[in-house]
Amino acid sequence: MVGYPVEGEILSRGTWTAGFALVAEKFQAGRIFLGGDAVHLFTPAGGLGYNTAVDDAVNLGWKLASVVKGNAPSFLLDTYELERRPVAVRNTGFARAFAESIGNYVPKPDIEADSDLGSDLRREAGAYLEAHGRSEFNIPGVTFGARYDHSPIILAEGEGQAPDLPEVYVPNAAPGGRAPHVWLNCQTSLFDRFGFEWTLLRLRPSSSPGTEFVTAARMAGMDLTVVDIKEDQLRAIYREPLVLIRPDQVIAWRGDGDGDAVQIIETVLGHIPAKR
Ligand SMILES: Cc1cc2nc3c(=O)[nH]c(=O)nc-3n(C[C@H](O)[C@H](O)[C@H](O)COP(=O)(O)OP(=O)(O)OC[C@H]3O[C@@H](n4cnc5c(N)ncnc54)[C@H](O)[C@@H]3O)c2cc1C
Repeated sequence: MVGYPVEGEILSRGTWTAGFALVAEKFQAGRIFLGGDAVHLFTPAGGLGYNTAVDDAVNLGWKLASVVKGNAPSFLLDTYELERRPVAVRNTGFARAFAESIGNYVPKPDIEADSDLGSDLRREAGAYLEAHGRSEFNIPGVTFGARYDHSPIILAEGEGQAPDLPEVYVPNAAPGGRAPHVWLNCQTSLFDRFGFEWTLLRLRPSSSPGTEFVTAARMAGMDLTVVDIKEDQLRAIYREPLVLIRPDQVIAWRGDGDGDAVQIIETVLGHIPAKR
């Protein structure tokens, strides 16, 4: 590779087996929680192993903090596995498909021939591998599109969701998914306005001041930041004037009034399961 002989010293070597797509049956046993490669082992196609691991930690982190602070029941911790295991199955499935797309590719026998046929086969192989490369790494749908629609702490709206495609991410403010990002005044990220823990977005035109939420959140010991957004374009994306966003930036609820605030807060903290 270098072009002339070089001396090298092997310090250590180990076997690495490609091709795994393994998900543990359980992510929790009592007070023990597992995340990362310990519960989902990827072929690194698509580069998803660490992303998925970080999302596990973010999901579990705020739930542990809420329970340790005494603001939520231990049931909130059970939702870690309920929310994250399906995402692990989803993401390892995408990674497996990417790995098979390259691993099962067999070049045609004459690909190295010094002939017109060989030239055509090399061009054909190049086109296939280029398309593979694009499909493996242009995957905003995998990264941003995971959803917790069936979680008992999400007040889902029961709308059918768009197909879950690796290469397509359609921002969607329905409860259960990542809050859509928007640039405010072309320079401030909406995410920079979110509170450190919970956020209540108040979007114009708003019929409700959200006072019931603030009171209910305070009673529940929740750290809630109310964010008023003046930019009109957010209503087109978020649809409702009030949006409750979890510490992991997942939308827990949205609506146009806060009369049910106590029940909503109790649901998102795991005191009562969401009605289905
Ligand atoms: C070749 C390759 C390429 C990759 N490319 C990407 C990529 O592009 N993008 C991406 O997101 N992911 C990628 N990954 C996956 C990513 O590296 C893993 O998903 C990630 O490191 C998992 O983090 P973890 O903390 O769960 O586990 P680990 O990183 O494995 O950390 C576990 C740690 O625990 C230690 N440990 C084990 N047993 C004990 C013990 N008994 N006591 C104390 N310590 C112990 C280990 O030494 C290790 O340091 C790749 C993986 C490989 C192998």
